[in-house]
Amino acid sequence: MNILVLNCGSSSIKYQLFDMRDQSVLAKGLVHRVGMSGSKIDHKKAGQSDKTVIQTEILDHKDGIKKILDLLTGEKTGVLKSLDQIDAVGHRIVHGGEKFAASVLIDENVLRAIRDCIVFAPLHNPPNLKGVEAVTEIMPKVRQVGVFDTAFHQTMKPKAFLYGLPYRFYEKDGIRRYGFHGTSHRFVSRRAAELLKKPYEKMKIITVHLGNGCSIAAIDQGVSVDTSMGHTPLEGLVMGTRCGDIDPAISLYLMKKYELSVQEVDNLLNKHSGVLGISQESNDLRDLEEGWPKRSERANLALEVYAYRIRKYIGAYIATLNGCDALVFTAGVGENSPIVRGIVCKDMEFLGIEIDLQKNEVTWRGAEGDISTPNARVRTLVVPTNEELVIAQDTMEIVGSKTGKGKGKV
Ligand code: ADP
Repeated sequence: MNILVLNCGSSSIKYQLFDMRDQSVLAKGLVHRVGMSGSKIDHKKAGQSDKTVIQTEILDHKDGIKKILDLLTGEKTGVLKSLDQIDAVGHRIVHGGEKFAASVLIDENVLRAIRDCIVFAPLHNPPNLKGVEAVTEIMPKVRQVGVFDTAFHQTMKPKAFLYGLPYRFYEKDGIRRYGFHGTSHRFVSRRAAELLKKPYEKMKIITVHLGNGCSIAAIDQGVSVDTSMGHTPLEGLVMGTRCGDIDPAISLYLMKKYELSVQEVDNLLNKHSGVLGISQESNDLRDLEEGWPKRSERANLALEVYAYRIRKYIGAYIATLNGCDALVFTAGVGENSPIVRGIVCKDMEFLGIEIDLQKNEVTWRGAEGDISTPNARVRTLVVPTNEELVIAQDTMEIVGSKTGKGKGKV
């Protein structure tokens, strides 16, 4: 079975084509600048050492997906004889609200429900939907599955997902914590259990996803009980350009004092804050780490604040879980930054976290492994995430099932 995985953003489309017989990637790529000038596609098929770069006008998502399909079946770039060899398409959908606690076969009702969630993710759900609509037009017979970033966290209890606001805002407007990166937290927690050869359903796991966006999750017996992102992906950890937790009164103060509009505050908190805002140098941890700790005072400070917030959440989630068997680092920074992992895990012996500095130093670039000292009570692991593979696996499971519903857990 061949499964195409699509992740449609506002101006980009990421894709991977899987052969599910061995879960190998036949081809993958990225469409840049959809609907903008200077658009192009980076395409790579398995076994090819360099990517093919195609500079071409891409009018909209449908046009982008058409061009991806042309590449997948093209004479030089292709890996398929015809589109009939694509058995199903899996889509990353950012927000499923309270309607989806698992991946699902997409039909008219599901589409309506995803549209209803646009209010929660106005930048993300519309392009996700465009991807589904484009595939429906181009390949009307192919079954499509939606895999939601929020679904894994739907197991959170009200005590974890409610804000201290008047209850009517939850009832009427759905204002509550939803959490994101669920596909990644699900994948790496499961993989951690496999690596440690322990039953997933009996473990307490804390997963730390540090990419451009950052979030941390507390997983008890295979179920997400808390996570740091909330109603939107702005809450929680300090990120590349997002502020994470702040006193909500700060927004009001800034609006008043600087006469900022809602849009301006939104931009400030989402695009100009985080480690970029503190360092005033870069949102890319690689830049801030270059020459660390001698680079600059502000770069050091940004790293310290970034790591300190993670430490606080780890402490909180050990309390939430009443223990912790495994602490798992993943995504761009989590997988590749011994510096961040080192600062986060320093002086945590009281909580059972102790890492081996040598193992920490050499675990990166797609490597997975246990970086804790032999006697540490908590196993600290590095596990590369693979959200596309989870989407492909869910899609395969759902198109092969009678109910069209996923289990919600791996
Ligand atoms: P996304 O959240 O977009 O999926 P990634 O998981 O790929 O992003 O993470 C991107 C982040 O990973 C970037 O901010 C970059 O700073 C960070 N990163 C990548 N490689 C390294 C590295 N070697 N050291 C530190 N940070 C890294």
